[in-house]
Amino acid sequence: MTFRILILGGTTEARQLASFLSRDKRFDATVSLAGRTKNPAPHEVPVRIGGFGGREGLATYLREGGIELLIDATHPFAANISANAAWAAAEYGVRLITIRRPQWQAKTGDHWRSHKDIGSAIEALGKLPRRVFVTLGRQELAPLATTPHHRYVVRSVDPIDPPLDLPDAVFLLARGPFQVDAEEALLRDHGIDVIVTKNSGGSASYAKLQAARRLGLPVEIVDRPNVEGEAVPTIDDALALLDHWVASAVNRGV
Ligand code: NAP
Repeated sequence: MTFRILILGGTTEARQLASFLSRDKRFDATVSLAGRTKNPAPHEVPVRIGGFGGREGLATYLREGGIELLIDATHPFAANISANAAWAAAEYGVRLITIRRPQWQAKTGDHWRSHKDIGSAIEALGKLPRRVFVTLGRQELAPLATTPHHRYVVRSVDPIDPPLDLPDAVFLLARGPFQVDAEEALLRDHGIDVIVTKNSGGSASYAKLQAARRLGLPVEIVDRPNVEGEAVPTIDDALALLDHWVASAVNRGV
């Protein structure tokens, strides 16, 4: 018996889960990506790319694809697709498993200020010019144009398009995972005195915060959006739920 699974991805968790499921003959898994990065990391299962056309579109995809289980392994800031997943799974009547990695928590030596959105984090940089290291999504950078007096070092996976009109900015291209020594060197080399980032959680991009702690740098950190619904924090937890679901499906003679 083979179960058809759709993994909503764009994260390390989705890739790792796909790799695990690709080696298990009980599952026929596909990963769905939004198409935010031009050259997505390779996956060990088939990948489809692009939006579904809203929650109804996703429900239609589930029905037409004969999907029996939906796994939401999207980024914790991708609140819209998670809401659509919850609605479509309920509408079409498939089991939904959601993985949401824990948030980062400030530790001794961290100087973080939390913000409800990116605009507030940028505003909090203040009126005096500062050297700011920015790691936000490519499509979230517009508020930087409202505070052009700072010097920005902006890191993204793909080039910013259309380019940002900032008088003093350096654009770096890099894909994680990042290492703490290299992050510390980057912060020193650019003379950074504050970081703006999102509370994404996970290990791949945590090193900049460890480096900030070493250097005593402040961090303006954007809180996650609220996403309703139950979620498990790790891939192992999701696999345990998956095993349980398979066992009950087999018992029901599905
Ligand atoms: P979003 O606001 O939740 O999604 C917007 C739309 O993109 C969705 O309604 C859906 O379009 C499409 N979409 C999102 N994820 C998809 C997936 N896995 N497969 C197919 N379609 C998908 O998310 P976002 O606009 O991509 O990003 C919001 C925040 O999440 C940003 O902070 C971004 O940096 C962060 N983030 C997102 C991803 C990602 O892969 N999406 C990865 C890393 C970080 P339809 O309504 O047409 O189905």
